[in-house]
Amino acid sequence: MNEFIEPPVTNGYENVKNVKRVDSLEIESLPAGAFSRLFIEIVENGIGRPIQVPVVVARGKKEGPIFGITAALHGNELNGIPVIHKLLQRLNLKTLRGTIVCLIAANIPGLLAERREFIDGQDLNHIMPGKPNGKISEVYAFNLVDRITQHFDFLVDLHTASEGRVNSLYVRADLQREMTAQMAYLLRPQIIVHNPPSDYTLRGTAAETGTPAITVEICDPQRFQHDPIARTVKGIRRILNHVGMIPTKSAVPVVTKPPTLCKKSYWILAERGGMMRCVPKIAERFKTGQLIATQVNIFGDTIKEYLAPEDGIAIGHCVNPIGQMGARILHLGVLMDDAERSKFEQISGCSLDGTFCKVLTPEQNS
Ligand SMILES: [Zn+2]
Repeated sequence: MNEFIEPPVTNGYENVKNVKRVDSLEIESLPAGAFSRLFIEIVENGIGRPIQVPVVVARGKKEGPIFGITAALHGNELNGIPVIHKLLQRLNLKTLRGTIVCLIAANIPGLLAERREFIDGQDLNHIMPGKPNGKISEVYAFNLVDRITQHFDFLVDLHTASEGRVNSLYVRADLQREMTAQMAYLLRPQIIVHNPPSDYTLRGTAAETGTPAITVEICDPQRFQHDPIARTVKGIRRILNHVGMIPTKSAVPVVTKPPTLCKKSYWILAERGGMMRCVPKIAERFKTGQLIATQVNIFGDTIKEYLAPEDGIAIGHCVNPIGQMGARILHLGVLMDDAERSKFEQISGCSLDGTFCKVLTPEQNS
C-alpha cells in the first residue's frame, strides 16, 4: 500500500519553468484537443510574490461538460495528486467530450509546509467559499472558487485521513441526490457514507450552485499509496464514462466487490487521557459491545476499554498512540439496513444485487 509511483514522463527539467502563468481559468481561450498546463495566481504573499496553483486542462475536441478534480486542499493529503497524473496520462483527447480541469494541488503553501492548513493556520475546507476581502486564507479560498472551481459542472474532491490517522478508501456524498449517489457508487470505494454537503466545504460550495460533487478519502496522509490510487483512477474513469465524456470501450469494468453503504458516521472520542490502541482493522465490521480500543496510562495500566456502541464498520482510526481526552479514536460507519439500501437503489438507479452492481448509463438506456 505504500509503494512509490513511477515518475511520469515529462518534457524535461524546464517543463515547470515554462508553464504559462494566468490570473484565472478561461477555458474558451485554451486549445481544443490539447492539454494545457497553467499556473493560476490566487493571492500575493508577504513580499508581494504570487502564490499560484498548478492546473491542467484537458480539452476534448467535442463539446461537453466541465469535470473538475481537485487534490491536496489539505496540504498533507497527497494521494489525489498521482491520481490526477495517472488519469491524465491515460486520457485520449480525440475521444474526450468536454473538458477535464485538474487542480493538482489546491493548497500549495500547506503542501510545501507538509501540513493540512493554509499559511495562517486556517483549514481551507472550513471557510469555503471564502471572502473577497478578509484574512489571506479567506481571500485564497474565495479566489480558488471564483477563478477555478465555479466553472465546474461536476466535482470530485480528493482527500485522505488527517495526520495521526488512517482511512479506508471511502466516499462522502449526498445519497439523496441521484447523480452524486451514482458518482459515489461508480467510484467503487470500500465504503460510501451518506453525508449531505456541509457548509464552508468545497463540496458544499459546489453543491449550493447545483454542481454534483463528492469527496473521496483516499487512505492515509503524506504518502503515495499505489493500490487505492489505481482504484480511484479507475473509479473516476467510470464516472467520466457515465456522464458521457469518455467512450464505453475505454471505461473500466467493475470487478471489485460492492462498497459498504453507511447512512451516517461519527467518531468515538477518548474519554480519558492515555496511550491508545485500536482493535478493528480498516474497513472491518464489528458488533455492538465488541472491543474497539484500549487505553493505558503512562505506566502501562489499562485505564479504559472502549466497546462499540452499535454495529458498524471502521472507516478510519487513529494511529498516533497519544490520546488526549477528546482525541478521535475510531470513525464509526453506521450500516444501512435493507430498506435504506433499497431506497438507495431507487434514488441512484444502481442495482445492488450480486457482485456486479450496475448503474445504467444514458447510452445503455437507449
Ligand atoms: Zn482533507
